[in-house]
Amino acid sequence: MSRARGRGNDDSRCPACGAHTLAQWVGHTAALRARVDLPPPGETRPYDTTAADAEPNRLVWCLPRQSYRPLRLRWTARGHPPDCPHQHLLDHQCPPAEPATIF
Ligand SMILES: [Zn+2]
Ligand SMILES: [Zn+2]
Repeated sequence: MSRARGRGNDDSRCPACGAHTLAQWVGHTAALRARVDLPPPGETRPYDTTAADAEPNRLVWCLPRQSYRPLRLRWTARGHPPDCPHQHLLDHQCPPAEPATIF
């Protein structure tokens, strides 16, 4: 138990903005590379409000949090239950570029 944080090989940084994200392949036949900003475990992210912000090229992912399993994003298809208890995340979007240096 000395290495509580584990290897966390699903964590990776966005190559564009360096944000700490969760990136992984989702799906079996036609896997999509998903990259999301990971919210705190306790945060509520209902499907319906998240899906309201979705765009054609910004998908909604379902993230079940199971204590003893690695995080595994799930595809949400049409008909995803609106009362699904899991967290729902939009694809990561890089923040606007910051001014070069702030002094
Ligand atoms: Zn869900
Ligand atoms: Zn980014």
